[in-house]
Amino acid sequence: ERGKLLISLMYSKITSTLHLKVIRGCQLLPMDFGQTSDPYCKIVLFPLNDTNTKWNFKTSVKKHTLQPEFHEEFIFQNVQLNELISKTLQITVFDKDMGKKDDYIGGFQLGQIASGDDLRHWLLMVKSPEHWIDMWHKLKPEQYSSPLRQRDSQTSR
Ligand code: CA
Repeated sequence: ERGKLLISLMYSKITSTLHLKVIRGCQLLPMDFGQTSDPYCKIVLFPLNDTNTKWNFKTSVKKHTLQPEFHEEFIFQNVQLNELISKTLQITVFDKDMGKKDDYIGGFQLGQIASGDDLRHWLLMVKSPEHWIDMWHKLKPEQYSSPLRQRDSQTSR
């Protein structure tokens, strides 16, 4: 068990933007001495389209907690409704460490490639533009490869 993350999603047809609110985490896995962690989230939407828009973000780091309260909103610009079907939103949670590599806590992917609530949340968002939809997501142990590196290899072909 790696914990859960509460997020809210909203797609706006009016502005062609995808909105993500990272709200809070709970029962995160302790990675530090004293049964605690310093969690933050990395967020990326991929594959990128050709608009040169920034589609990767990080939340702030919440010190010494397994129940972080983030309440941070991220906006992905230039996302067309018909593109959503082929996009994946990847959210991964890390424990910030000083002087060594940050520890991976867990993550999940939303989109057509997902299943269960990870798929359901994405489809609800696509079906209900201009409405915020909240859902808890279970953090999974598998560590996903960096889609940004995949993108680099695609552009060099
Ligand atoms: Ca730490």
